[in-house]
Amino acid sequence: MDGTGMTDPPSYDQIDRPVPAAYPHQQTPLADPFKTANIHTREPPSLPETTVIITSPQVGPDPTTILCPSCRATVVTRLEYETTTKTHLCAGLLCLFLCWPCAFVPYCSTACRDANHYCPNCGSFIGTYRK
Ligand SMILES: [Zn+2]
Repeated sequence: MDGTGMTDPPSYDQIDRPVPAAYPHQQTPLADPFKTANIHTREPPSLPETTVIITSPQVGPDPTTILCPSCRATVVTRLEYETTTKTHLCAGLLCLFLCWPCAFVPYCSTACRDANHYCPNCGSFIGTYRK
């Protein structure tokens, strides 16, 4: 080492060459691009089908028996369905691709609307179930 290595690029190539030969055959799988691709595509879908707000109590699409965090009573939640953007989207799609009389369906059905859970005892908001 003479301290002038920065001005001597060929020396890098000379150092690099013996390294792969010194390694055993374990390195071969890493060079396989197909195996790497399979790892990404085979990732199991661990996400649930529906998204529930994590900070809220676990509530579903139906009235749920739950301990009210506000009045500390065990109650069956009162449901109020909220019209969301998705509701309008469903209606719009039905209107465009099916027939316009069906467009009101999303507004009547609960499938396209978020379910807000309220305590029937004290009326406090408990949580939202999102589709
Ligand atoms: Zn309550």
